[in-house]
Amino acid sequence: MTVIGGEGTVKLLLGNEAIARGAIEAGAHLVTGYPGTPSTEVIETLASVAKEINMKVQWAVNEKVAFEVASGVAWSGLRAMATMKNAGLNVASDSVLSIAYSGTEGGLVLYVADDPATHAGMAEQDDRLFAKFAALPMLEFSDPQEAKEMVVEAFEISEKNKVPVMLRSTTNTAHMFGNVVFGPVKKLDRVPDYSRDIKRYTKAGPAWCMEQHATLLEKMKKAGRDADKFNLLELTDSKVGVITAGAPWNLLKEAIIRHNLKISTLKVGVINPLPDEKIRKLLESVDSVLILEELEPLIEDRVLKILGEMGKRVKVHGKIDGTTSPVGEFNQAIVESALSKLLDKNLTSPVDPERQKLIEKAKSISIRRPITFCAGCPHMGTYISILRAMRKLNYKREDVIITGDIGCTILGMNPPFDACWTEVAMGASIGLGNGFERSGIKKPVIAAIGDSTFYHAGIPALIDAVWNQTKIVVAIMDNSIVAMTGHQPTPGSGFTATGESAKIVKAEEIARGCGVEHVVVVDPYDVEKTTEAFVEALKYNGPSVVVLRRLCAITAIRRKTIGKPLVIDVEKCTGCMTCVKTLSCSALVPIDGKVKINPDVCIGCRICAAICPVKAITEGSSHE
Ligand code: SF4
Ligand code: SF4
Repeated sequence: MTVIGGEGTVKLLLGNEAIARGAIEAGAHLVTGYPGTPSTEVIETLASVAKEINMKVQWAVNEKVAFEVASGVAWSGLRAMATMKNAGLNVASDSVLSIAYSGTEGGLVLYVADDPATHAGMAEQDDRLFAKFAALPMLEFSDPQEAKEMVVEAFEISEKNKVPVMLRSTTNTAHMFGNVVFGPVKKLDRVPDYSRDIKRYTKAGPAWCMEQHATLLEKMKKAGRDADKFNLLELTDSKVGVITAGAPWNLLKEAIIRHNLKISTLKVGVINPLPDEKIRKLLESVDSVLILEELEPLIEDRVLKILGEMGKRVKVHGKIDGTTSPVGEFNQAIVESALSKLLDKNLTSPVDPERQKLIEKAKSISIRRPITFCAGCPHMGTYISILRAMRKLNYKREDVIITGDIGCTILGMNPPFDACWTEVAMGASIGLGNGFERSGIKKPVIAAIGDSTFYHAGIPALIDAVWNQTKIVVAIMDNSIVAMTGHQPTPGSGFTATGESAKIVKAEEIARGCGVEHVVVVDPYDVEKTTEAFVEALKYNGPSVVVLRRLCAITAIRRKTIGKPLVIDVEKCTGCMTCVKTLSCSALVPIDGKVKINPDVCIGCRICAAICPVKAITEGSSHE
């Protein structure tokens, strides 16, 4: 959906698209970030219109670099935003904490998308706590209209108080649709300028650091007051109240309408600092209160503290009394159940029998299968070759530790490959692998990492492997794209977020530059050569790198660079099912004890042809 339009235009936008529109209206000079669900659409949306709106829109090599780039722009007096998912904030945190102390000149917004219920994997971390920890103001929106308004306001508040402002979403609000009314677009036309001020922009000495810290705390409080309009307090005659924020606000509104409830509510829009005065006002008017917040009891802790100061007894329902869980995201049933407890009456909605029937039917016809690679995915060739190399060297599966990493490459942990043993964090496959080797375990170690993950956080661990003379095989699975988050470019793609051509940063050159002496580049579709490359790497006495270079199958389909679908000679096929069992390629379909290839799915990668023991798989007609 385009986010271009004049003032007053109304468009149905995703939460993340509304954030993109907010950045346009605020006159942001640059928006950068690292792809990560559920935050990715902000940059994708802006990249599609960047030239039209004259905005710099870029993917960064990782979130730390993204925030530093945005800060450099903001310190030069222009407006900038960095976007990332929750785990990305951990990567950026070193710079975020330090830059918070220095503040900013131009508006600086840090958008972080949390993921209760881990729809996109990783930890259920609650970054509201990060804002508190970093002493940075944080806003949280509940719908796309508010998302856009908060971005515009966040830039204003950031600039006025000279402090970076955080904006938080969760998967539900980042990916919810809603109508957004466009506002005017700010034309800033600023000339970048930056003056040397080491007392502000360095941390050289405790006196300066403590002064910066004290200043930050003041700025944070002022920013909170400036954003108070986002804290919506509605008092009624009722003696019960609900305090909520973000996505649960929408569920609460629905329950209020559905059950015609008369209760006092406070929707918190400023997460840090929390609106103590409005919380206090609500608590003064009620005998019992429900805190509806996903994950940690951040608001609840504050409520208990304020109640202690007030010396008032109010029954508090939330995480601490077990009304809601600190795990997972809320839905209508959870909110209605919590309200039932608050109001001491049953508000849970009866199950619609027709709907239930449909759910049961859907369950009965759904096919359960492990998450595996797309048909023709080059990573299939990599894992097949690793397993073949292990067999050639007389290793069993349990004899070689294969550390996995973030992204599509981790699908190698699933059947039929059952290859990867670990998945921790971006780049951790190499660091963990170094540790296993140094533990003295008598097992070879292979670290399996994607190209973008390698650029993002794998390089320091590779240098560590060289420096500390670690015998480890690093398999850099270079499909030249960030596939799992929706095919964004990497430094190895040869083009930028906005489609301009760029110098290709080659993984093998980085590896050699890091001091790795045994570096080979192979095509994982060539199973024989790839197997041989892993045999040699496993025998090599030191750190070795195998770069597996082949474009992601989905990207290849989009670019129309795929091969012809293969066919199986039914006369030759013995029905041994080796191809099906070792690859689980969705184009291979077992029928009547033999196998057929679905020509609509097969992209002609030839990996199956390489493993068929009787060479029954050959080239067929051209792909439609
Ligand atoms: S591996 Fe070859 S022989 Fe065995 S089922 Fe597949 S196509 Fe047939
Ligand atoms: S060639 Fe074989 S492995 Fe490759 S996509 Fe076609 S069926 Fe799948």
